[in-house]
Amino acid sequence: MFNLILFGPPGSGKGTQSEKLIAKYSLKHLSTGDLLRSEIANQTALGLEAKKVMDKGELVPDEVVIGMISTAIDQNPDAKGFLFDGFPRTSAQAEALDKLLDLKNTSISIMLALEVSEQELINRLVKRGETSGRSDDVNVDIIKARINEYHKKTTAVADYYKQFDKVVLIKGEGTVDEIFHHICQEVDNIM
Ligand code: ADP
Repeated sequence: MFNLILFGPPGSGKGTQSEKLIAKYSLKHLSTGDLLRSEIANQTALGLEAKKVMDKGELVPDEVVIGMISTAIDQNPDAKGFLFDGFPRTSAQAEALDKLLDLKNTSISIMLALEVSEQELINRLVKRGETSGRSDDVNVDIIKARINEYHKKTTAVADYYKQFDKVVLIKGEGTVDEIFHHICQEVDNIM
C-alpha cells in the first residue's frame, strides 16, 4: 500500500491538492474535516458536539477523530492506499495512526508538508469564507485561533515523522498546477 499524509496549516491547500492526488494515484481520500462536516450535516450527536469545538477554531478530541479514521480504514479493505488530509493533527493521533496501519501490515510512506506564509493563509481563508459556507471561515479571530492551534499542537506531528525520515517540504505558494507538479515528483520518487 502507498499511504500519504498531506500536511500543512489551515488554508495551505490540502483539500485542493488531495482531489488531484487521489485521481492520479487512485488513493482513498480520508479527510477528518470532511468526515466531521458530514456528521454535522447529518446532525448526529458526534456532529453536534464537534461543531461547538470547530466553531471556536479548536481541535476535536483525539479519541473522536481516531475513532472516525479507524472506522473509515475498516470500511475500505480493498484500498490501494490512503491519503490522510487534516489527520493526524496531534502526536497522539500520529501514534494511533501508526498502530492502526500496523494492524494492516502497512505504514505511512511519506508526509508531504505544504509551507505557506501566515498572511497568505489568512487571505486565502477569508476569501474562502465568502463562498464556502463554512462557519469556521467567517471571521478572522476563528481563523487565527485555528492557525494558533496548528502551531501549538500540530507542528509536533511533522517532528514525529521527521525521526523516521518521512517528511518532504513542499512550497505551497504558486499556481495549483505548479504545486501539484512538485508534489507528484516527490511521490513518483518514492513510489
Ligand atoms: P482546515 O485545515 O482548513 O482548518 P479542516 O477541514 O481540516 O480545515 O478542519 C476543520 C476543523 O475540524 C478543525 O479546525 C478542527 O476543529 C476539526 N478537525 C479536523 N480534523 C481534526 C483532527 N484530526 N483532530 C482534531 N480536530 C480536527
